[in-house]
This record gives sequence, structure tokens and C-alpha cells, in this order.
Amino acid sequence: MAMDSSFTFEVPENGDPLRSTKYDFARDHVGFGRHPPNPEWPNGAKIAVSFVINYEEGAERTVLNGDAQSENMLWEQAHIAPRLGERAVNVESDYDYGSRRGVWRLLNTLEEHDYPATIYAVGMALEKNPAVVEAFASGGHEIASHGYRWIDYHNVGSEREKAYIRQQMQCLKTLTGAYPGTGS
Ligand SMILES: [Zn+2]
Repeated sequence: MAMDSSFTFEVPENGDPLRSTKYDFARDHVGFGRHPPNPEWPNGAKIAVSFVINYEEGAERTVLNGDAQSENMLWEQAHIAPRLGERAVNVESDYDYGSRRGVWRLLNTLEEHDYPATIYAVGMALEKNPAVVEAFASGGHEIASHGYRWIDYHNVGSEREKAYIRQQMQCLKTLTGAYPGTGS
């Protein structure tokens, strides 16, 4: 049977004005190649290990936070069908383990070895667990901004994203007494 010569491949419309050719930075497929620069780490160390705790529990997408759907991807198991307009209690349970138990286990282990961590802190998550904020601060850990909400920002408009960034800065200042990275 002859191929239908009238067939044309449809290119989907570019719905995002920043996508594709409009990005102003190119990819680098070459890098440093065989001779990367020597970072000259102390004592001739060959690797540097940095411990980071992402603290996001309670700030994820959920109808309890006013979102249209509850999180169905960013958890420890396989995807589940999107929970539209309803809670995903099994996903909540993963997140709640982190805030109720997981974070304390990590802090206990790190502090036992006198090892301060960087906390990638999501503002709304901190607001929901003051004891954890106090532990981050008194344990000498560094609190870094990881946004006010833990959601997929791919399709979030720039104005809403800017508003979240401002809200996050104020949230960290209120909860910890300082804007992240400034000490004041
Ligand atoms: Zn994150």
C-alpha cells in the first residue's frame, strides 16, 4: 500500500515564549574534557561531600494548601493517578514521616558527628513545624532558601513566582531572624 503523501508531521505549537530557540544560553557538550582544573581542596582532598537536608514537608501540592490537586509524583513510590480535588493520604504519609521523624534522625546523626548541614528550607514547611526551625538554628546549620512552596514551577507565571520569592524571604526573616545568607 502506497504511503499517503499528504501526511504532514504536526509540530506542536510553542506555548511557552521562553522555550526552545528563545533561550539565550547555549548548551556545552564539551566541558573541560580530559584536563579539568584542579580545585586545590585542603589537604589534597580528592572529593568534597556536602550534606543538605531538603525540608519541604507540608509545603507540597495538596488540596489542604488550596491547590486544585494533591501531589502524585514527588514521593518515594511510583506515580499514582492525579488526585484532583481530594487528598492523597498515602503521599501525605511520606511527607509526614519526614517532618515527624526523618528530619530528627538526620539531625541527630549529623550533630553526633559535629557536622553542620545546609538546609534547603521551604518557607511554608518551616511555618508548620517551629520545633524544627529552632533545631536548625540552634544546631548551627545553614538555612538556605528553597522557595515558599514545594510545587512544580514549570508552568507557574513569573508574577506568582516573584511573589513567592518575596514571601519566602520575609518568612525566613520572621522565623529565623535573618534573610538567608546574610546573617541579618
Ligand atoms: Zn526541593
